[in-house]
Amino acid sequence: MLLEARSVTKAFGSFKAVDAASVTLEQGDVLGLIGPNGAGKSTFFNCLTGDLQTTSGKVLFQGQDITDATPEARADLGLVRSFQVPQTFEGMTVLENVMIGAFLRTSHRSEAETKARAVLQRVGLSKLADAPARSLGTPGRKRLEIARALATEPKVLLLDEAMAGLTQREVQLAIDLVRDIHRSGVTLVIVEHIMEVIMSLATRVVVFHQGKEIARGSPREVTTNPAVIEAYLGK
Ligand code: ADP
Ligand code: MG
Repeated sequence: MLLEARSVTKAFGSFKAVDAASVTLEQGDVLGLIGPNGAGKSTFFNCLTGDLQTTSGKVLFQGQDITDATPEARADLGLVRSFQVPQTFEGMTVLENVMIGAFLRTSHRSEAETKARAVLQRVGLSKLADAPARSLGTPGRKRLEIARALATEPKVLLLDEAMAGLTQREVQLAIDLVRDIHRSGVTLVIVEHIMEVIMSLATRVVVFHQGKEIARGSPREVTTNPAVIEAYLGK
């Protein structure tokens, strides 16, 4: 098992944004994590990556307890994420943003640059390498988020709504990119509202509602599950 969340709970005061969530991830999985807005998906990602401390429960990576590890230590082990709201360094160039990821694996500037350029090529941002990050539109930012994460050479990549705000054609291109990342050996967890993305990429799906898991199964099973449909309708 690559990654395991054991009864992870994250409370803000008395409110449990994530309530005893247990999820396992095997090498090669593309796990879809879905659920209505406010279900706790991003908070759960934060607990996995250490951007938030869990209130209770455990997170294990390749059998190692990382519940109290820093985000940097987890990234070093190979567990990284993209953010729902892109965390771009606006004043830096696109290339420099990706180099920040690459510096996790090397302290040599020229090596980081070589790696970053290779990643930019892969995500289709090469032409914009020297553009300031602030000049990018939504699709560019989403790709830059993925590029920075890829530059850290992850084993597990968590994508938080990496395709939100994209046009139909851009979504198709992003699906191709994620598929390519998966084929290169990266295990993925994807949070996505666009069902087409879940249907075409996820090997299995877990559904959250009000911090709790309410269903799991194949994409087809969960999207036809009455409890899931009811959760989305807000009953
Ligand atoms: P999702 O990503 O599934 O839309 P979130 O994980 O962002 O949901 O949020 C889950 C719930 O936790 C929401 O009700 C949200 O308002 C609440 N929440 C998230 N972050 C905080 C925080 N830092 N403080 C208080 N409440 C929070
Ligand atoms: Mg979210």
